[in-house]
Amino acid sequence: MTLFDSPAFEGHEGVHAFSDERTGLKTIIAVHSTARGPAAGGCRMWPYASAELALEDALRLSRAMSYKNAMADLELGGGKAVIIGDSRTQKTPALFEAFGRAVQDVGGKYWTAEDVGVSPADLMHARRHTKYVAGLEGHPAASGDPSPVTAEGIFRGIQLCVRRAMNRELDGVTVAIQGVGHVGAYLADKLHAAGAKLVIADVNEEAVQEVAARTGAKVVSPGAIFDVAADVFAPCALGGAVNADTLDRISARIIAGGANNQLADPEVGRTLFQRGMLYAPDYVINGGGIINVAGEIRALDRGEAFDPAWVEAKLARLMQTLEEVLDRSRQESRPTHEVANEIARARIAGAAEKKAAA
Ligand code: NAD
Repeated sequence: MTLFDSPAFEGHEGVHAFSDERTGLKTIIAVHSTARGPAAGGCRMWPYASAELALEDALRLSRAMSYKNAMADLELGGGKAVIIGDSRTQKTPALFEAFGRAVQDVGGKYWTAEDVGVSPADLMHARRHTKYVAGLEGHPAASGDPSPVTAEGIFRGIQLCVRRAMNRELDGVTVAIQGVGHVGAYLADKLHAAGAKLVIADVNEEAVQEVAARTGAKVVSPGAIFDVAADVFAPCALGGAVNADTLDRISARIIAGGANNQLADPEVGRTLFQRGMLYAPDYVINGGGIINVAGEIRALDRGEAFDPAWVEAKLARLMQTLEEVLDRSRQESRPTHEVANEIARARIAGAAEKKAAA
């Protein structure tokens, strides 16, 4: 594969590779689009087996951020950084300082933040050499843990889907939650407070018992969560929960949860649609987290404190966008994930045209 032939390349504006021999840094910063504003997306540290695989991941993730940021109606484009290395053994302050210099070299076209293998403490080192870092702690612009905001968006999204598909409120509705980590646990609390009945599963026994104790949720084994008789299935663990194996086992009318990449492939989404199941596209309904981070970027950029009211307004707007996706899916008789992709592409193209004309 060469860079421009990669299926994930799709119109990337820039792909930047940096290495620093002294610290061992090898990083790729992919900028998919700056049409709506500077590209924003986290930095992932992962022991990729080859530079090719790292590039593929950077491209795929940065394009996904363009779509997610557009659907959250943020004045941000999409980008992503990957650092090749093992986050358990190869992290040093100097490595992240070198990463900060790399981000600075991209000249403000890319804002970084946390992702898998990267913590706020790592970003503090990067911050010494660039201002284009969000997801920090202990300053007035800091946005803190995004999980509660992500969970709030999912909660409202589930409420919307239940109203539309079942014509009722959440009281008495059964929701099966796969994974009660950061997002899943907050979601369980919110659903419980709204009167929903919960069935939960997690590979972490302690986490699942804790959430069950305070919400009265029924606990099932991780393998059994797909077979639960529920109205809503909320994947909040890893990607690929809805796949060829689980598709026939999920009886819920609604699939709406926090995990990224819930559909193993687009065909699964088409099958859900054909079966009359309502799928809330993952990158739309879980956009609360990036909205929270965008609140920090905005505050840093303006030299202001973090503004929760701005985040709330964006979250309300996100729900309008989800409604638009569901409306168009019904009107045009098309799967929700296809409609969402189309709206995202149109928003990005519209901004690009405006920018070109300016
Ligand atoms: P987390 O690691 O805190 O929670 C994930 C939970 O899933 C853990 O408790 C883990 O034990 C459990 N789990 C793993 N495999 C499982 C399995 N096979 N069956 C059942 N449970 C399993 O992560 P999180 O921050 O809560 O994020 C959850 C998902 O939401 C991820 O896919 C993440 O990418 C996505 N997401 C998170 C945010 C956020 O704000 N944290 C924002 C957008 C998307």
